[in-house]
Amino acid sequence: MGAHLANKRGGRMKEIKLLYLYPDMLELYGDYGNIQVLKYRMEKRGINLIIDKYSIGDKAPDFCLYDIVFAGGGADNEQTILSEDLIRYKDNIKDAINKGVFFLLICGAYQLFGKYYKGVEGNVIPGLEIFDYYTEAIEDRTKRCIGNIVINTKIGETETKVIGFENHGGQTYNIKTPFGKVIYGNGNKFEDSEEGFFKKNVIATYLHGPLLSKNPVIADYIIKYCLERKYNEKSMLNELDDTFENKCREQLINSFCK
Ligand code: GLN
Repeated sequence: MGAHLANKRGGRMKEIKLLYLYPDMLELYGDYGNIQVLKYRMEKRGINLIIDKYSIGDKAPDFCLYDIVFAGGGADNEQTILSEDLIRYKDNIKDAINKGVFFLLICGAYQLFGKYYKGVEGNVIPGLEIFDYYTEAIEDRTKRCIGNIVINTKIGETETKVIGFENHGGQTYNIKTPFGKVIYGNGNKFEDSEEGFFKKNVIATYLHGPLLSKNPVIADYIIKYCLERKYNEKSMLNELDDTFENKCREQLINSFCK
């Protein structure tokens, strides 16, 4: 248990606790950058982000004790290895989601929270079955959804374009509440109009990138959500200077969505 930090006025510093799942197995295309962005944007506002890691063989975590759970992408092989371990926590994870813990799940992790993932050879990797979508890889292994992607989404009250990078063979079906509408790239399936899965406290998406560095609005949605849930108060996040981020976004959007 870390000591509580004090803020400049001597008050107790706000603290958000994040659980980083399988960092040694699920980390593609800068997924860890999402945690770094959360930490950076919290520290700028005097909030301390505590990061715990869990992987196979570690002491079982209690998911309900966290504010955020993060898991990144991984290849079929890693998904096969860890799915059995993950499923041991099914009830605890379900409980945490129902209690409002925020889950940010990228690509391979997104797939594992659904019913199953069926690989190119027809091998089935069981999922947590927490959400009722399922994923099947295209039989032709040379066909993958690869490249930059831009989606339109409404998060909280804000409408925004979300930019990312996708690389998946899996095609995800049966999504009733997508993360956004595709305006450039593929999405849940080849040339799909929808991307990801969303509910108030869950963002599950194919967008690597890392997602949050390219989309500060999404990072702030998560931070605000966690603060309001934990401290039971309407929190107004002070604005950060995102001039640089916004210039990058503008440049990317202009080059993709001509
Ligand atoms: N193995 C999955 C697929 O190819 C996930 C890949 C990923 O996480 N980028 O569909």
